[in-house]
Amino acid sequence: MIPVLLDPGHGGDDDGASHNGIVEKDYVLKLASAMYWLLYDTHWIRPHMSRVSDEDLGLDQAGHIGEVVSAKYALAIHINAHDSPKIHGMMNFYLAGDTIGQQVATAMQSAAPPDLRRRSSSPTIAPRDGWTRRVNNVLMPYRNRDIPCSLIELAFCTNENDALLLNTPLVRHQIMGTILTGLEQLRQAYGD
Ligand SMILES: [Zn+2]
Repeated sequence: MIPVLLDPGHGGDDDGASHNGIVEKDYVLKLASAMYWLLYDTHWIRPHMSRVSDEDLGLDQAGHIGEVVSAKYALAIHINAHDSPKIHGMMNFYLAGDTIGQQVATAMQSAAPPDLRRRSSSPTIAPRDGWTRRVNNVLMPYRNRDIPCSLIELAFCTNENDALLLNTPLVRHQIMGTILTGLEQLRQAYGD
């Protein structure tokens, strides 16, 4: 079985983004928990969680947990925010040089739920984007430990429609399908 770390962002005093009734730290924890059980049932992924409650781990601690469970992949799960309420959709980020991260992020970006699909279907390499610093912060603890990884920003809570979609059961289901489709890449990568 392939050990995978699910890393729902923020927690404790750190709410993450909070708009239109979505509180990032709570949403991503709930989604990651549901994802945990979905992956558990695959019998080829052994899922782990960086946190299972409302606590602020700190980024490096999450990386440390990845190391302890010998994760072959770490997926940071976040919700995006932007000054412009028009910006919407799902985004996936990976770090340059992380081939497995690129494969998984690409698969997730292509499998985004139709309503969250952005015009560009390719994922973003962290250093080329305005989100660079944040993405690097989130993923560096994994890179430092040679754990392939990517960051999925599910949607923009600053966009009213995205926030509505996040609270739609069908879309939540689709998002979980997106993540599973991306992680399927690991079977090939690790020859399962
Ligand atoms: Zn976040």
